[in-house]
Amino acid sequence: MGAAHVRSIILSMRDNFQREIYYLRLSVTDLCNLRCIYCMPEGGVEKRSHSDIMSVDEIAEVVRAAAICGISKVRVTGGEPLVRNGIVDICRVISGTPGIRELCMTTNGILLPKFAMEIKSAGVQRLNISLDSIDPDTYRKITRIGTLANALDGVRVALETGFDSVKINAVLIGGVNDGEIASLLELTRRYNVNVRFIEVMPIGECADWAEGRFISADHVLEIAPELRDAGIDGVARLYRLPDGLGTVGLISPISSHFCPTCNRIRVSADGMLKPCLHSADEINLRGLKGAELEDAIRSAILRKPQKHRLDAGEVSASLRNMNAIGG
Ligand code: SAM
Ligand code: SF4
Repeated sequence: MGAAHVRSIILSMRDNFQREIYYLRLSVTDLCNLRCIYCMPEGGVEKRSHSDIMSVDEIAEVVRAAAICGISKVRVTGGEPLVRNGIVDICRVISGTPGIRELCMTTNGILLPKFAMEIKSAGVQRLNISLDSIDPDTYRKITRIGTLANALDGVRVALETGFDSVKINAVLIGGVNDGEIASLLELTRRYNVNVRFIEVMPIGECADWAEGRFISADHVLEIAPELRDAGIDGVARLYRLPDGLGTVGLISPISSHFCPTCNRIRVSADGMLKPCLHSADEINLRGLKGAELEDAIRSAILRKPQKHRLDAGEVSASLRNMNAIGG
């Protein structure tokens, strides 16, 4: 083995506030086939050269090192992860990394009819699909260029493919889709899906846009008082319609932020580790390998701040748009 030394995988690592950090959200591209109004500038983003984003080998090395540091769950995100060249290889490499027990993906679903089987075979166990509206005009208004029928096809194929779970993410936007809460809830009556309502976060170039459009996740409980408490799932409070097959999740990053139970770090497609979604702090992982990379990840975990300040009316301090972080 020469100078190489064997490092054992730790079960999880605690940050300075005693939170167990075991979850990596990994963005594989900033690019997207949609332009959601709360996430991306209207003109999209400039395509970067290949060398500006991490290669499959670099991603493999980051995930290997993260697993050594206690990461056991990876979510592949973007931009839109399914537009990234080599996405199936990326999923296969991640799911095959010792120590990684759970691989999930967040996608807008548009390309699922093409990729669902392949990514499942490559180890993706759970899918979150973004679907903010089931009205074709509103869907187009939110995504600027998307076609609802394509997204619904993606959801259908995801359900048929047999992932361990399929969740639908709907960002609540005042005056845009808040009139659709009841119809989105109805999906859980007919299908075994988890429909999650997410509070819009003011971040990046879209921060001004979000102002005045905030709807608290608790508003869903006013619209549907028949919802019954069904426990907690990670950052979501779960509910169920009395005769529902699926569940309803409420995610409140603003009105009751979940920083005290934060369990995650984020790595962007260009290899910057973000200890906190809403902080400007970033650690460049590119060019690092082996023990040096592991040390960088460990020290980033120890740099996680205690909390963000969005509940105090501040906009995110992150310098990136959401498509360049991964949500
Ligand atoms: N393209 C994929 C998708 O849309 O699911 C993955 C990337 S997207 C950035 C990840 C998640 O972030 C999506 O569920 C999206 O709705 C959410 N998101 C983006 N911008 C947001 C914002 N300003 N506030 C709240 N959620 C946001
Ligand atoms: Fe693309 Fe997802 Fe952002 Fe919408 S939320 S623009 S689908 S990255």
